[in-house]
Amino acid sequence: MRIILNSASPLSNPGLFTKLKPLYETHLEPLIPPITLKSALLTVGFFFAATFVRWWFKAYIKDDYENTKESIRHICKFCQIERETQIEQPNYVLYQDEKVLVFKDIRPASKYHILVVSREHIKNCKTLPVTQESIELVEHMEKVTKLVLNRITANDEKIDPKTYRIGFHRSFGTSQDHLHMHGFAGEFRSWYKKNVSYNPNFIIFISTQAMLEHLRKNLH
Ligand SMILES: [Zn+2]
Ligand SMILES: [Zn+2]
Repeated sequence: MRIILNSASPLSNPGLFTKLKPLYETHLEPLIPPITLKSALLTVGFFFAATFVRWWFKAYIKDDYENTKESIRHICKFCQIERETQIEQPNYVLYQDEKVLVFKDIRPASKYHILVVSREHIKNCKTLPVTQESIELVEHMEKVTKLVLNRITANDEKIDPKTYRIGFHRSFGTSQDHLHMHGFAGEFRSWYKKNVSYNPNFIIFISTQAMLEHLRKNLH
């Protein structure tokens, strides 16, 4: 603590110090609280709430401030890759057709982790319009995901296609604002990714099946 000496300072006036001492004890000590379980939990809770507010802002408010599609296409990483594939096939692209392209996730969460990206810039599965074309796009993306996973796991006997996990981030959980389907095969690399980030039974990730059901239900 910094002490400023002046005529009213208790250090230059011992009489005043005696008078102020009880005040110091009662008023200053509680300013330095010990780290308790309660304060630790409050801190964690605060950061969790802040993260949630950020997601919520991204998902529900930021849309209003969006720029035009063309300028987004310029800064979007997946659109840059899409443009590249029109000139040549980069060696990291595992598959491409007129609707989608496929490459490995740069930070794989499981033994085999691929991304199936739409050629068109669609922000995320929440902004996917409820149309027959969207249903066909999602069905196509799922088919391609299975096809590529089958191909890259062909020599791995431990992989059972029935255990593939396929789906989207919900709008607030996405790391890249361009529609992409995640395909996982094999062991997950972390408990958190398996049970939180990419868990179709939790709030951040939605399975392809649930997404298709949602679109079909709202189509009419
Ligand atoms: Zn894009
Ligand atoms: Zn993602």
